[in-house]
Amino acid sequence: MKLFAIFGDPVAHSRSPLMHNSVFKNLNYKACYTRVHLTDGSKLRETFFALGLSGANVTVPHKEAAYKACDEVRGFAKKVGVVNTLVNENGKLIGYNTDADGFMFAIKEFGDIKNILVLGAGGTAKALSARFIDAGIKVSVLNRSKERLAYFRELGCECFSWEDFKLKKYDLVVNTTSAGLKDEELPAPLTLIEEILYNTSFVADAIYGKVTPFLKLSQSKNITCKDGADMLLGQGVLANELFVNYELKTDDIKTHMSKSFEI
Ligand code: NDP
Repeated sequence: MKLFAIFGDPVAHSRSPLMHNSVFKNLNYKACYTRVHLTDGSKLRETFFALGLSGANVTVPHKEAAYKACDEVRGFAKKVGVVNTLVNENGKLIGYNTDADGFMFAIKEFGDIKNILVLGAGGTAKALSARFIDAGIKVSVLNRSKERLAYFRELGCECFSWEDFKLKKYDLVVNTTSAGLKDEELPAPLTLIEEILYNTSFVADAIYGKVTPFLKLSQSKNITCKDGADMLLGQGVLANELFVNYELKTDDIKTHMSKSFEI
């Protein structure tokens, strides 16, 4: 029996155990997936091995610590320095990022997106912004503090903090901050958010399982919105493929993961 887990702080809200266990149970794959509340990101590696895990997901705020914990980082994660999926490969910790492709899957239904405003500058913002730039999309980033913006400037994004924000028209605004996750805060001051919402066609929030104040406000303005559920599904399917080393069919994984959303 293989053991998998999700590390995060907070982590109690995570639907990942339900999603992955639904796949393992229904496809008779001998594995179990649990959650680990980890406050100190520097303890990630030793905790992973102490628990004898075969693989793990990593959520807020440890994705950059997860990158540092790896023996080897592959694919897109290498480019962005952000890891959300860990695989134990013969005692070595291998890191991947499945968030960005999961998000691209989620916004397909919005059609041709050319111009995105990303709210936040953490691990998720890094992965998504780099993926958007790769796809030829123009990216602006707005973050509470200035310190984390250098990475985005180098990537080719227009960068702002709350004090120097210059508004444009956007096809899509994405909230990647954790504002609204365990509080009732907006990702930026109300006046800024109001202006932004008047100038966008679509809104997406990375947070799932709750209508955040940001989504609530967007809905009240009749903007087409989505929460982070489809992104969660997309990244989960890709992570599960890595966990089972592609032994299960992608469509079967997707079917059983989607069903777990009904629980
Ligand atoms: P990080 O901790 O790396 O970054 C958090 C970001 O949020 C920082 O830019 C921080 O700003 C900003 N922030 C935090 N609190 C506030 C606030 N009250 N007001 C304004 N800005 C704030 O987090 P992650 O990037 O790992 O995750 C971000 C969110 O995305 C989480 O809510 C997570 O659950 C969600 N997520 C969902 C996924 C899905 O599958 N649906 C996948 C990945 C993430 P500052 O720099 O100023 O501190």
